[in-house]
Amino acid sequence: MDKLSFFNTLGRRLEGFESLESGRVGLYTCGPTVYSSPHIGNLRTFVFEDVLRRTLELFGYEVTQVMNLTDVEDKIIAGALAAGVDIDTFTQPFIDQFFADLDRLGVKPASAYPRATEHIAGMIAMIEELIAREHAYEADGSVYFQVSSSTDYGALSGIDLCNVRRGSRVQDDEYAKDDIRDFVLWKACKPGEPSWDSPWGAGRPGWHIECSAMSKALLGESFDIHCGGVDNIFPHHENEIAQSEGASGKRFVRYWLHSEHLTVDGEKMSKSLGNQYTLDDLVEKGVALRAVRYLFVSVHYRQRLNFTMESVEKAGSALRRLDEMCFHLTHAERVPAIRRERDLVTAAREMVDAFRGELAHDLNVSGALGALFGLVKEVNRALPDGITDAEHEEVRAALSTVDSVLGVLDSECWAERDSGDGDSLSDAEIEERLAQRQAARAERDFAEADRLRDELVAAGIVVEDGPNGTVWRRG
Ligand code: AMP
Ligand code: ZN
Repeated sequence: MDKLSFFNTLGRRLEGFESLESGRVGLYTCGPTVYSSPHIGNLRTFVFEDVLRRTLELFGYEVTQVMNLTDVEDKIIAGALAAGVDIDTFTQPFIDQFFADLDRLGVKPASAYPRATEHIAGMIAMIEELIAREHAYEADGSVYFQVSSSTDYGALSGIDLCNVRRGSRVQDDEYAKDDIRDFVLWKACKPGEPSWDSPWGAGRPGWHIECSAMSKALLGESFDIHCGGVDNIFPHHENEIAQSEGASGKRFVRYWLHSEHLTVDGEKMSKSLGNQYTLDDLVEKGVALRAVRYLFVSVHYRQRLNFTMESVEKAGSALRRLDEMCFHLTHAERVPAIRRERDLVTAAREMVDAFRGELAHDLNVSGALGALFGLVKEVNRALPDGITDAEHEEVRAALSTVDSVLGVLDSECWAERDSGDGDSLSDAEIEERLAQRQAARAERDFAEADRLRDELVAAGIVVEDGPNGTVWRRG
């Protein structure tokens, strides 16, 4: 059996994967800061983490995935104060949006979604431990982590803070730090801000300690894999390591995996450029959700993903090839036996082996998709001669194995052959829908075009787009 290997940011090399506990994986994935709706960059990272988790499951691991919600943080407090509401009221719509988006992109729910505001006691306990072990100090009601006390600081990011001038000031509310490199664990509150009681007076946690405390509460002091986007490497994850290892004296995380960013039309997303898209923005532009997931899944996680309308259209046509193959497979003539160069049972088994082998190698999706589309070609070539029951079953099983990771196939295409025999729609109705689909495509309303096609497919109509336009027949 193939063994999994991942590119570990800690050490920057490919490493064979061994879980701490046989057959089980603890996976911590930094979640959203809920002061606005997630943008498609955040969603790219969440989809990568979903593919990682599904791959681990494909390899037989039982995965406990934890994704936190950062629901107390400076931008949240500023937003809640500006809106004149408490932080729960302010964050709830963004939390709802986050869950709705994950669902729309077929992301499997994590085992737990701890909220920072529910883990304040654990954060305070960890800060007390850090003070006791002389990794942290209190100043004016705030507590800071003393970076000079951590021998390995910088190992993850490769950032060397030695040359940073001591004593310079960075932020007004952190003026009491001994050393500019130190970071805040607990912030004394300003009047009017939400706060919690602590041994150091009323205040709130710093962002980094939130993840250290929540991962400890749900996965223990040491666990297998920690993920996020590349912007999380420094300072967030570097600081998490310093805090968690400083408090426990144990190795925090074995493997660190980070996904590259998503850009739009080659530019970093930003409000000022007006290219900071949410999923709803894409849906409004007529982009199909399955095509978004396919696009995200098809680009290797350590490569920058440049989102363009063209790239999502290409993703849509790759999906159509898959859908059409699934449909033809379901509706192909069954024959008792057939002679061909390589039977589809063998082809399907070999495809699954190749697909797994490629994913095992640091989630090499392009290789995995190459194996899948190799089978698609072979099946399309074979189907006109009919297919045996055994071949049908094996190809179907292979596709569902593949889709347990990709999560992109359309269940409509799997509808059994007699669920729609094409009689439910008259020729005129079919022609009308095809014309509407053509019009929707011309207006680049691909979501509507896909919906119309799916409707036809569900009614048992085979729709084929060829060089001479679209043709159809009853399946
Ligand atoms: P945030 O809500 O900013 O804490 O981010 C949530 C997740 O999205 C983190 O793992 C970030 O690293 C990731 N992220 C932020 N911006 C992007 C981007 N442009 N592309 C991909 N991932 C991102
Ligand atoms: Zn985090």
